[in-house]
Amino acid sequence: MNSCRFCKPLGDGDHQFIKRFACGNLYLNKSQHYYGYLIYIYHKHVKDFSEIDEADLLQVHQDLLYITQVVKRVFPETDLINIASLQNVVRHLHWHIIPRREGDANWGGPPWPHDKIKLSQEEMNKIIQRYQEEFNRDN
Ligand SMILES: [Zn+2]
Repeated sequence: MNSCRFCKPLGDGDHQFIKRFACGNLYLNKSQHYYGYLIYIYHKHVKDFSEIDEADLLQVHQDLLYITQVVKRVFPETDLINIASLQNVVRHLHWHIIPRREGDANWGGPPWPHDKIKLSQEEMNKIIQRYQEEFNRDN
C-alpha cells in the first residue's frame, strides 16, 4: 500500500486546500513564516522532476505561472516569488511557492531554514478566501 501522504487529499492540521488544477492541487502551506506561502502538489506520484510525464510539463508550468500572478494580485506587497521543488521530506513531486518581501526573515538568501509559524484557523481561512476569490475572478 502506498503510504505517501501527498497521494491522498490533505486534511485539517496539514496544508489546506485552495484549488484543483489540471495537473495538481494547490494548498496553503501549513507554515506561514512567509505570508501567503503555497504548495502545489502534482497529481501523480513521481519522486522528482526527472519523472514528470512530458505531456504534463507545459500544463504544470502554466499553472505555476498563473499561481504566481495570483499571488502578486492577492499580496501586491510581494517583491519576489521563490519557487522550489526539493522532495527532501516527502518524495512526491511538489513545488513550494513562497512570496518574499524585502526585509523578511532571510531576505537576500534562501527561504530555509525558517521557524514554523502556524496561524489560527481563522487567519488561515482569511488567506484561503482571498486566494479563492482571486482565482474565481478569472473563471
Ligand atoms: Zn505520492
